[in-house]
Amino acid sequence: MNDINKIEDQFKDKIKCFLNQNSFNTWIKPVKIVNMDQGNISFQVPSKIHIDYIRGQYKTVFEQTLGEILGTDNFSLKFLIDSDTDFAITTKEEPVVVKKKSTSKNRLAPYRETLLNPKYTFDNFVMGNGNETAYVSSLQVAKNIRNTQYNPLLIYGGVGLGKTHLVSALGNYVFNNHPDLKVIYMTSDQFVIQIVNHIKNKTIDTYKHFLSSKDVIIIDDIQFFAKKEKSQEELFHIFNYIYNSNGQIVLTSDFHPNQIHELDDRLKSRFKMGLITDLRPVDLETRAAILRIKSEEIDFSMDDEVIMYIANNINTNIRDLEGAVKKLYFFHSHYNKDISLNKAKEILKDLISSKNTSLNIDKIQDIVSDYFSIPKDLLMKKTRTKEVAHARAVAMYFCTTQLQSTTTSIGAHFGNREHSTVSHAAGKIQKKLNSKDPETVRVIEDILNVINLSTC
Ligand code: ADP
Ligand code: MG
Repeated sequence: MNDINKIEDQFKDKIKCFLNQNSFNTWIKPVKIVNMDQGNISFQVPSKIHIDYIRGQYKTVFEQTLGEILGTDNFSLKFLIDSDTDFAITTKEEPVVVKKKSTSKNRLAPYRETLLNPKYTFDNFVMGNGNETAYVSSLQVAKNIRNTQYNPLLIYGGVGLGKTHLVSALGNYVFNNHPDLKVIYMTSDQFVIQIVNHIKNKTIDTYKHFLSSKDVIIIDDIQFFAKKEKSQEELFHIFNYIYNSNGQIVLTSDFHPNQIHELDDRLKSRFKMGLITDLRPVDLETRAAILRIKSEEIDFSMDDEVIMYIANNINTNIRDLEGAVKKLYFFHSHYNKDISLNKAKEILKDLISSKNTSLNIDKIQDIVSDYFSIPKDLLMKKTRTKEVAHARAVAMYFCTTQLQSTTTSIGAHFGNREHSTVSHAAGKIQKKLNSKDPETVRVIEDILNVINLSTC
């Protein structure tokens, strides 16, 4: 191993301690040190987004960490884009300066023609652990709309996690900042209906022409294309047409294109030619921030303990969080009463208990034993091997934090163990999380994602 590799390894090991596993995997893992010369340290990164993000968020951490390793502050950082890196960006082209196609007659297209929803903006989207890559990617595309190599941009993720919000924010940003550019938003259903009608009326060329006059085309929920076999051939040509006329295409989907069965391979590879980025359920802190923003938007002030109660108990999707705020607001404005924690619990009983009924000790044991690939019955037995004891403690941790069950009842489901054993095991995991032990943070986040998906 040469010096540069050694330094890169040390650098990554050290920086790991500052970040959670998701951020580390997204932003740091793909980074390579490629040159160290006369005080210049050159990093190779997968995309421009990485450069912007690292400069914005991690510059000081980079400098401090390298300073510690090298024993000097006398260096400067350089970033180079590696277009061959195995990242979701598969295009190897350099950024193309898109020829501006709008003419003066296109100027100031009315907002209603965009079919966008004005309420979704970047300003009212809370960025946090789980959505940061998708947020930064959308913002980058919006800011560099005539000069982006992320074409198409595809955002995928579960229901209610903010896909429509983000792509609409991108469209609104372009509309507001570039009055000379034309934006159109459509759901895939609307898109397919248009195509089918135009094919029927033999006016498909006119429709293609109409689309090629747009600078940004947003199509929401492309997973529905899967069921529209006949339209897929036409869709493929339309995508090529838009792409070749330098229109920016922005897509969303519930799943990664590889997981959309019945989707034409040519369409899949077309989708994958740009940037594919995912949205995952967000962490507790972000959920609380979203609740604050949603209640501020309707001028409704909620106590912190109420906010934390909702954020702790609704960790499925953001739409459910919003639903909870609206429910409390309705009560507050209807009866003109403030909402105490107890009142909130009562009002949200259905919303929160329905989630809890779908999650129980048995399900947590299934998920955890699957995750660690150990037979479930070992969680109940006396087995004390390190692996089994750890998995058992993790399962107990989730039972105490995700369910309303008492530690006595949890202990009973783990081979009649004492309640103090449950508290002790769960407490050990909590302690590791508090000290940001990277492995524990990764395991807990991973399993929480599975739990969230299974209770959606
Ligand atoms: P999806 O299209 O993924 O099903 P939406 O974009 O419709 O989800 O989001 C559902 C609701 O949650 C919307 O009202 C949206 O504004 C809100 N939302 C989602 N993520 C965030 C976020 N990070 N910050 C603020 N609001 C959010
Ligand atoms: Mg949506």
